[in-house]
Amino acid sequence: MILIFLGPPGSGKGTQAKRVSKAKMWPQLSTGDMLRSAIAAGTKLGLEAKSYMDKGSLVPDTVVIGMISERTQEFDCKGGFILDGFPRTIPQAEALDKVLTSRSKKIDKVISFEIADTELVGRATGRRTCPKCNSMYHIVSAKPRTEGVCDRCGSKLIQRDDDKTEVISNRLKVYHEQTSPLVEYYTKAGKLSPIAADKSPDEVYQQLTNLLK
Ligand code: AMP
Repeated sequence: MILIFLGPPGSGKGTQAKRVSKAKMWPQLSTGDMLRSAIAAGTKLGLEAKSYMDKGSLVPDTVVIGMISERTQEFDCKGGFILDGFPRTIPQAEALDKVLTSRSKKIDKVISFEIADTELVGRATGRRTCPKCNSMYHIVSAKPRTEGVCDRCGSKLIQRDDDKTEVISNRLKVYHEQTSPLVEYYTKAGKLSPIAADKSPDEVYQQLTNLLK
């Protein structure tokens, strides 16, 4: 099964992608996580990406298309995968269609996480992330057992620079301008499955489970 999780920053798509990935054994391919790893490793690609990410802008299409094209050829993607945060522009979606077609594969479903902007700012700015294992928490709704410490690996949690209020508003603007046209793109392709993302994580997961039966 090839799935795309599409939604604005803070809509919970990363959290849900991790949960579905664990339950179904399909790897979660997050371009955001891949880019942050490249930054942490100090690669040339990471350095280039950082200047865009710090502002809340998108990194160039060619960079992410290349990353996803390579990653989806790896052995663990044979039985399917979940794309989390990719595609984010129409050219990325078109490139993905081309890559998959050339491999005689296709997207099965695009899950659209629907939620109002007013909910998103609080969600994103309250988010805390583990820089080591990428686990996510929220200062109000998904607290770790010990404040500021990752339950899973014990690392100190951080607030990502791009989850800070100034950057979040730009990320939302970018989402509406460049990513939301994908809703129409995948509706036309007959692939879109909307879910109500303004519910609790368990309720959202239940909707996903029903869709993926
Ligand atoms: P995320 O962790 O998915 O919220 O992504 C964090 C940041 O990484 C985004 O704000 C972008 O700067 C960059 N990024 C992640 N995925 C993409 C993508 N598919 N296209 C362009 N930029 C991306």
